[in-house]
Amino acid sequence: MRYVSTRGSAPVLQFDEVLLAGLARDGGLYVPETWPTFSKDDIRALRTLTYAEVAFKVIQPFVAGTVDDGALKAILEDTYNGFDHEAVAPLKQLGANDWVMELFHGPTLAFKDYALQVVGRLFDHVLAKRGERITIVGATSGDTGSAAIEACRDRENIDIFILHPKGRVSEVQRRQMTTILSDNVHNIAVEGSFDDCQDLVKALFNDHGFRDEVGLSAVNSINWARIMCQIAYYFWAGVQLGSPEREISFSVPSGNFGNVYAGYAAMQMGLPIKQFVVGANRNDILARFFETGVMKMEGVEPSLSPSMDIQVSSNFERLMFDLYDRDGLAIAEMLTKFRETGVMEMSQGQFARAREHFDGYRLDDDATKAAIKDILETSGELVDPHSVIGIVSGRECNRDKSVPMVALATAHPAKFPDAVKQASGIYPDLPPRLSDLYDRPEKVEAMSNDVATLMAHVRKNRRAA
Ligand SMILES: *Cc1c(COP(=O)(O)O)cnc(C)c1O
Repeated sequence: MRYVSTRGSAPVLQFDEVLLAGLARDGGLYVPETWPTFSKDDIRALRTLTYAEVAFKVIQPFVAGTVDDGALKAILEDTYNGFDHEAVAPLKQLGANDWVMELFHGPTLAFKDYALQVVGRLFDHVLAKRGERITIVGATSGDTGSAAIEACRDRENIDIFILHPKGRVSEVQRRQMTTILSDNVHNIAVEGSFDDCQDLVKALFNDHGFRDEVGLSAVNSINWARIMCQIAYYFWAGVQLGSPEREISFSVPSGNFGNVYAGYAAMQMGLPIKQFVVGANRNDILARFFETGVMKMEGVEPSLSPSMDIQVSSNFERLMFDLYDRDGLAIAEMLTKFRETGVMEMSQGQFARAREHFDGYRLDDDATKAAIKDILETSGELVDPHSVIGIVSGRECNRDKSVPMVALATAHPAKFPDAVKQASGIYPDLPPRLSDLYDRPEKVEAMSNDVATLMAHVRKNRRAA
């Protein structure tokens, strides 16, 4: 499989290069040159497989030629054996054709584990083959840091440094990062804000000498490999609920548009999907787009679902690429203008194509809390402030009640205990594997907001080749 950039002027790459590169050199995102397709028989054949086996069938065509079948199988078995539910991504029924798929049974209790746990292992595998090492440096406001650390801990060829603003992340979030004591994991509490942390990381990446010296890299949300792994659970849900004989719809609480885009990819690959509902909080750029055809940037405001507090959804570019018949230069022009003006309007034709399958919906914090309470009372399920946006959005926008609507539950309620308590009166317990989180020792380095200090710290602590 070869990969092309959504902006049409970066080199065409193989999977391993796309994995390591992240962003394309022309500023675009990599997508497969063509979509591999599954016939109805291919889809039927998934019905009796385990989650890891379904993931193998889905991912194999994307890595063929770079990662051999045996290695991929081993990586997927090893990953999903470590999840704490036998079904890996269990489906729960809330009502007639009203379903939830739980994607929070990985180590950090959010759906990002389903991809990042595989991606960390793929990085290690590909780096070993190439005889290379990398140093990952990232900033977190609390949520993505732990998933990245869990994905990279104990990997032979990776050292990871994660910066968080000292005293400004919740205790659960901090402990999920700092209680990982592995030699290759380095938590840094910066005296400053999240923006200061991000600026420090940017400064390292902009110093090309340093960048090459330590093999600086990132595991950000635009990496194709993450999308690829997420496609698997759309097929998984499909075959549980009757694919390919029956259509299925999905409602996805969205931020960077990576999760729902993976669903779109599943549809391109042949899974019969009726509808996608894109759920948003008050930071509703996506919901407004699907109402009006206009993408307009506004400031970000904090909400009860912080992992969806975004200004721009970077993965939306991948959908646009298809809507504009893969005309990379047109996409480059539109996005450059968008960055300048903060506004982008799609042509009527392209907007109509986007609306064939997509709807958008938003819930503010009050509606989010009310819905958490309501779902607890009507179905006995305690859901987190992200997942509930998926559930309600799916119900409100459902175009065809005869088709199963599956809302993606993207986080465990115990990951956002304060909001859940406020809404429901119940303080959600951590699952057994994390129940002693508050008693575990922590490893974290406090640091002033200073680039030179950070560079010296990375040089000193990364393992030599
Ligand atoms: C990251 C995240 C989202 C948003 O997913 P995108 O792929 O960025 O759209 C939603 N919910 C939770 C809990 C997340 O961690």
